[in-house]
Amino acid sequence: MPSDPIGELTELLARLPGVGERTAMRLTFHVLGTEAEYAAALGEALSHIHARVVRCEICGNYGAETRCAICQDPRRDATVLCCVARVPDLVAIEKSGTFRGRYHVLHGLLAPLDGVGPDQLPLDSLLSRLEADGVREVVVATPLSVEGEATALYVSQVLRPHGVKVSRIASGVPHGGELEFTDQVTLGRAFEGRREI
Ligand SMILES: [Zn+2]
Repeated sequence: MPSDPIGELTELLARLPGVGERTAMRLTFHVLGTEAEYAAALGEALSHIHARVVRCEICGNYGAETRCAICQDPRRDATVLCCVARVPDLVAIEKSGTFRGRYHVLHGLLAPLDGVGPDQLPLDSLLSRLEADGVREVVVATPLSVEGEATALYVSQVLRPHGVKVSRIASGVPHGGELEFTDQVTLGRAFEGRREI
């Protein structure tokens, strides 16, 4: 089979979310048109991303060490946790600047039709943090979608017997919308207007 470096790179780029065949082609030719050093640096960064980035052993956030910067920061309130579906949601909440507690990243949502059941969510590690850190409140900031709501309900049911307050971010975040695409002011209001569930 003849080698086809342009086709190979285009095919790989086209697998990225939001990148169609045409954009992939455009990116490939863009990279070809820039300095070889840039392409090499891009390749280097890509090839090491999995080895250089690890999941925080406490909260599941991404970082360069076994404990992420937020879990290592003594100024963050360990007694209030925010439960999010994915790391980009955590990043969006951090950017809004309204939350000073710590996080728990589920890395997914309940999706029975896709085979994601309660066992796949890291709730054991969440429960173990309740007592260890004297957690008072868990704010569930999963997306306001069907799966996000089902997950929030499930998390609240698991936590309720442990005497911790469980609250849900308020509406205002576009229905079904991802937190990462919600503007900072709206996200801040959604936090301040959270309600107990
Ligand atoms: Zn962490």
